[in-house]
Amino acid sequence: MRSLAIKLTLAFLFVGLIGAILVALVVRQSTHSAFDRFMQERNVATIAETLSDYYKIHGGWEGVAQVFRADGTFRPQFQAPENFRDGYLPQLTFILVGTDRTIIYSRKAENIGNLVTQPELNKATAIEVNGDTVGWVVFQSPPEPWALNTPEGVFLRNINRAILISAIVAGLIALVLGGFLAYTMTRSLRELKAGTQKVAAGDLGYQVEVRSDDELGDLAVSFNQMSADLARANQTRRQMTADIAHDLRSPLSVILGYTEALSDNKLEGTPEVFEVMYKEAGQLNHLIDDLRTLSLADAGELALNYQSIYPLEILQDVARAYRQQAERKGVSLGVDVANDTPHIKVDPNRMIQVLGNLVDNAIRYTQEGGEIRLGAHDSGEASGDRLVELYVADTGAGITAEDLPFIFSRFYRSDKSRQDNGETGLGLAIAKSLVETQGGSISVESMPGSGSRFTIRFPAEA
Ligand code: ADP
Repeated sequence: MRSLAIKLTLAFLFVGLIGAILVALVVRQSTHSAFDRFMQERNVATIAETLSDYYKIHGGWEGVAQVFRADGTFRPQFQAPENFRDGYLPQLTFILVGTDRTIIYSRKAENIGNLVTQPELNKATAIEVNGDTVGWVVFQSPPEPWALNTPEGVFLRNINRAILISAIVAGLIALVLGGFLAYTMTRSLRELKAGTQKVAAGDLGYQVEVRSDDELGDLAVSFNQMSADLARANQTRRQMTADIAHDLRSPLSVILGYTEALSDNKLEGTPEVFEVMYKEAGQLNHLIDDLRTLSLADAGELALNYQSIYPLEILQDVARAYRQQAERKGVSLGVDVANDTPHIKVDPNRMIQVLGNLVDNAIRYTQEGGEIRLGAHDSGEASGDRLVELYVADTGAGITAEDLPFIFSRFYRSDKSRQDNGETGLGLAIAKSLVETQGGSISVESMPGSGSRFTIRFPAEA
């Protein structure tokens, strides 16, 4: 039995039937015991009265057996007129016991003359004549009331039938309703199963319908999210493979072309030729280094050498390294660090790499006469952590609103045709990866024409 729907249907049916059977048993039991009591009390009175009359008339129990028919019912002529109810006679098994505890009458003739035990007599009904006890009537396990051919028996049999019918109807309703409920409840699960099979077969991004806002609905929403994320990740991976192939091919084809021309003696090996080849090989090297750093950071295998750093130190190191490059471009480069800036715990070399990347970009995108400022300050508390903010701000070209959300993505260049001068489109992706690996965050604010400001936040060292 593998289907959840079948299991649920059977569970509903089982619960429905158990309920119906329990109700039937309780109703039947209470009806029967009430009837037992009622009939017994009435019949005991009738029998005891009739026997008492017999005793009065005959002055003893002589010949009492002729009062009864073979089936134990009274012969009508022996009933007192007020008790006479033809065809409605007590049909109970009982014995008549004399005052000496011997059996005077029993349907089983062989028992006549036997002694009755005291406990049995305790349950008996006394037969009285003028206030004296002249004998006892002892009932012996009366027949089941519904087996009797009396109106009470018919009534009980009708009740039994009604109980049986209602149990069957309850079972059928449980089966139909249970089947319907089980089908609707498992529909989302069946769709999810089909969805996972589709995703497994490569249909990434496949979405299922969210049919409810319960746990199954939540599951469908999570599935859709996962499927969309997988599609996005797959698209990014494809795009990245294509970008890597493209970026590797351009310098390689230059180097191959030059090598071929040199070996065919079609090109003379001048210093300019070797410089171009060296520059292209350097570009390849740079790209491969960047890819390696990214893949190590992604795998969490980047070796980090954490040290307690005063931000001014690394900012000054970076400014020193890039001052000449900035001056060549006619851009000023300054550092502002507030006096009370706390220390941060980072890998200084990796931070110099990150900040260097930001400054390198800033110099590249800032016109002559522009300004680049590096700085750090305490930026107050955020969710219980005291944060230190490091920034690289320029007065350069700025970034358009369309490009802004993507500039930390791998291989993203706002000018798609630009690939020379060591621009791999990986610089900011690496910066983000390195900062996040060290427990920080990086963001950017920028407006075309009014410059850009990259901000890095780290928790202050306690
Ligand atoms: P690249 O190696 O091409 O510089 P990055 O990841 O460092 O790659 O930068 C991605 C893109 O973000 C750049 O192509 C550029 O368009 C934009 N960018 C980065 N820094 C700046 C900046 N300071 N001013 C303007 N644009 C910037």
